[in-house]
Amino acid sequence: MRISTKDGAGGRKMQEFLEEVILDTFGDSSVGSIGLGNLDDGASFGNYIISTDGHTVKPLFFKGGDIGRLSACGTINDVSVMGARPILITCSLIIQAGFELEDLKRAMVSMKESCDEADVKLVAGDTKVVEDEIGLYVSTTGVGEYWDGLETNLDIIRETQDYPENFIKDSGLAPGDKIILSGTVGDHGISIMSEREELNIFGDLASDVCPVWGITRRAIETGGVSAMKDPTRGGISAALNEMSDKSAVKITMFEEKIPVKNSIRAAADILGINFHDVANEGKVVIGAREEYAEDILEAVRRSKYGKDAVICGEVSEGSKVFLRTKIGARRLMNIPEGDPVPRVC
Ligand code: MG
Repeated sequence: MRISTKDGAGGRKMQEFLEEVILDTFGDSSVGSIGLGNLDDGASFGNYIISTDGHTVKPLFFKGGDIGRLSACGTINDVSVMGARPILITCSLIIQAGFELEDLKRAMVSMKESCDEADVKLVAGDTKVVEDEIGLYVSTTGVGEYWDGLETNLDIIRETQDYPENFIKDSGLAPGDKIILSGTVGDHGISIMSEREELNIFGDLASDVCPVWGITRRAIETGGVSAMKDPTRGGISAALNEMSDKSAVKITMFEEKIPVKNSIRAAADILGINFHDVANEGKVVIGAREEYAEDILEAVRRSKYGKDAVICGEVSEGSKVFLRTKIGARRLMNIPEGDPVPRVC
């Protein structure tokens, strides 16, 4: 057996790969209440969250962002969706010999600007230069901390649910919760694929890559957030299925309420790709207690990157994720095998 691209594509194949290669070797390795076995966006230790992410996007510079912004946001966002306040990242660069210095500087400036947006410091790093034709790979690790707003939020959740962890899990959904999407879906994956396929008839296609800390902070400050996840590889299909599976609940999504730009829908049609299945890099799926959902929605909409947020799903007893159409038809929203767009993050 050899590794295939699907093994790292964020879908069902990657879950199987992780179980066979990582969990069978390391087991439920943890030093806090959330560890490797939870396969969450990061792990907890004391009052901190740590998360790590490698980035191999192609092209390195794309509409709406570049590998520098993606590498900072990828890790800042994984820390943020666990409810932590992101404080620092480290960065490992693997650079192909002959890479343009100006391009590297440009990516680093972009990374710095993204860190500044979230008030995060880059505090350590490593650089390797190799002969292999890789262009530029960037790995980042990030740390976030416990903060007052989180405590208030968790107190609300604990009124009705056993929730011993200090941070927000992706497995915290309970029947009755609402699902909020912080904005339009499919932007990153579909715009990158369109760029590769030179589908430049859609002028406003661009990646959504941004730090989501402003969104998660406002949601948590409002209180009543039970679960969060950033729908990256595998899109909202993979994220919602993971949340439903781990929380042992059914999620029903109202198809016509899921926000998507017309240009993304049109490009996805031409590419034959389901925009539910592709990566987003600046969005959050938020599970909210029913009585707090409207307030959380309003708070998220006031944040810089959350103005298109909507309540578009609900949680009930059962299992699996369903899409309900306007006329009342219902169909399964399956976890994709892997993200249909490779080298996207
Ligand atoms: Mg994540």
